Amino acid sequence: MFACNIDSFLENELVKIRDYFYKMMANFPNASFKKMLEERKEWLPPVYISDEVIVIPKANGPFDKQLGKSLKKGYSVFIYHKAVKEYCRTFHLDNEYECVLSMVLAHEFFHSLHRIWDERAFLQDASPRTGISMERKHQLTESLADYFAFSWLESNADGDYAKVAQHRKSLWQEYTFANWPYSAALVFVNNPNKFFEILELLKLKPAMANSSFYYRSSENS
Ligand SMILES: [Zn+2]
Repeated sequence: MFACNIDSFLENELVKIRDYFYKMMANFPNASFKKMLEERKEWLPPVYISDEVIVIPKANGPFDKQLGKSLKKGYSVFIYHKAVKEYCRTFHLDNEYECVLSMVLAHEFFHSLHRIWDERAFLQDASPRTGISMERKHQLTESLADYFAFSWLESNADGDYAKVAQHRKSLWQEYTFANWPYSAALVFVNNPNKFFEILELLKLKPAMANSSFYYRSSENS
């Protein structure tokens, strides 16, 4: 299926994703973020392809296996390729396997950079002091990463990338009612400026990010 092997595909893809990240995030006028980018200029997360299959308990979306993971340790990225294959099979995207891999890679890449800048957004605690629940933090961080991955796919001239992006968006719409955390990315599709606003508020004033991130099923458009 691969012209080259999966490792070199991901390696090449990661460089392109990083270029796109720098282009997109140039529109984020935040001094500490810019500083972090400056310091990490040539940096790429270590990427591991894992054989593990991790079932998400009580999943509320269309797919119940973890596709990837970003770790605090080394900010490395894991790709669960068996789950990615199953995702492709389930949604008839077998011919777009590489593009789905790229979506997962972009999503996890975003998490890694995001957590370097704002580790608190990923702490596994409820934060009554900051006025935001774990569940809400999860929804915010996931929707940011998923929107980034969606934008990356959409920016690609290759039509297969756009197909995977549009499919993902259709899942957001379909599972809005279930409060699937990724579905909240629709907020950014409808209002791209909100993406930077939420990113900033989540770090500086989480309670405000919480309250300015209105999202209800009825807003599904
Ligand atoms: Zn994620």
